[in-house]
Amino acid sequence: TSAQIGVTGLAVMGSNLARNFARNGYTVAVHNRSAAKTHALIKEHGHEGDFIAAETAKDFVQALERPRRLVVMVKAGGPTDAVIEEFAPLLEPGDMIIDGGNAHFADTRRREAALREQGIHFVGAGISGGEEGALNGPSIMPGGPVESYDSLGPMLEKISAKAADGAPCVTHVGPDGAGHFVKMVHNGIEYADMQLIGEAYQLLRDVAGYTPAQIAEIFRTWNTGRLDSYLIEITAEVLAHVDEATGKPFVDVVVDQAEQKGTGRWTVQIALDLGVPVSGIAEAVFARSLSGHAALRDASRSLAGPKATPLSAAEAGAFADRVEQALYASKIVSYTQGFHEIDAARDEYDWNIDLGKVASIWRGGCIIRAAFLDRIRAAYDARPDLPSLLSDETFAQEIAAAQDDWREVLVAATRQGVPTPGFAAALAYYDALRAERLPAALTQGQRDFFGAHTYRRVDREGSFHTLWGQGRGEVEA
Ligand code: NDP
Repeated sequence: TSAQIGVTGLAVMGSNLARNFARNGYTVAVHNRSAAKTHALIKEHGHEGDFIAAETAKDFVQALERPRRLVVMVKAGGPTDAVIEEFAPLLEPGDMIIDGGNAHFADTRRREAALREQGIHFVGAGISGGEEGALNGPSIMPGGPVESYDSLGPMLEKISAKAADGAPCVTHVGPDGAGHFVKMVHNGIEYADMQLIGEAYQLLRDVAGYTPAQIAEIFRTWNTGRLDSYLIEITAEVLAHVDEATGKPFVDVVVDQAEQKGTGRWTVQIALDLGVPVSGIAEAVFARSLSGHAALRDASRSLAGPKATPLSAAEAGAFADRVEQALYASKIVSYTQGFHEIDAARDEYDWNIDLGKVASIWRGGCIIRAAFLDRIRAAYDARPDLPSLLSDETFAQEIAAAQDDWREVLVAATRQGVPTPGFAAALAYYDALRAERLPAALTQGQRDFFGAHTYRRVDREGSFHTLWGQGRGEVEA
């Protein structure tokens, strides 16, 4: 017998993905650089389905039916190149290498172009859902040649998460690096969601005076409404958790320095290159880096803050409702920014990405899965050329209804000295888009003054320059 799919790289993600394929009835060839992981997988989970254990790369490739489908789940970066170098010479035209790691989309573009010369289909596939998702159904974002999806797609659809309406959370996202790009933006949005939730928690604690256990209850309630999502759900779990050793709330015994692996940072770096304002996502990345500057924070502890008067118990409940509004409105802005980045990449790289489909496959399996995504899908399905999510009437109306509370929450945060960079960046973005006139006109004047960079006029076509040092007459540039 031969295997319909092979997985190499059997750490937590790879072994769970291999088990997911096997549990869905596929024969799975499994391989790892060091054979110990392969044997452990067979020993512990061999009974779950049909596995073929391969010790060498050659055995692994020979175990696969043609065209071969070979999933690589190794550490992203150099290890992925090493594995490709090892396997590519053993493959034949039409075979597929599927990279399920968190690769940078530029690496995926490079690898796809190189392997295409050999007739090998390289599919960079973003996979989200962590280890639990890999086993029970992740959201999968494959890129690469569209032909590869003919035979690979049905298998991925089988092992993927399913949205509430039963639709599989996988689609052919677009050519070459499109899948990894979309996975990257998913993670950027995830950072923003987490930051906004963090700010909501801090406000409920420091301004409203709630305990972590009470805040867990508030999040549980929010999770039954429009904020219904995996991240809100686990936030309630984490906040309700009590440390066994000390009896204190778990959040109070964890060092408050957030770490990151890099995909959020990439989202911002690439947005800068593409000229897309993703201010909310950027603030989330910066908030994590700020938290990690322990020495700077120690040195700054004695800086003066405002005289804070916490709310009375009677006022706290109404404030919590306002925070829900602020969180929801800010969340709409983060998603608006993330989808704008995908939209810009679609133009830059000539990717035919369907934004409604992207929202659709994020409805299940992945970390940002949320009821809300169904509404984004509906917005893009109704108008595929929607210039921005904020141009969607429903979202615009929701923000209109939330904005008074959103502003009040920021006033309270400012008055009491609680940092809310995510909420504030989101509101500034919203107000900037709304503005009749921006101070960018003044910026253009300054640029023309010191650097003769020219400006355009509101009343005439063309580029102009004012002779600032010589009588201030205007000339056409
Ligand atoms: P790791 O990222 O920890 O990678 C470990 C695996 O990589 C092992 O199988 C290891 O083999 C192999 N490996 C490392 N270097 C080489 C090399 N030079 N040649 C061959 N194999 C090598 O494992 P994870 O399961 O956490 O993640 C796998 C991929 O999935 C990563 O790209 C990760 O970014 C991505 N991912 C992870 C998620 C998660 O929640 N963990 C979620 C989504 C994606 P050996 O046993 O021989 O050392």
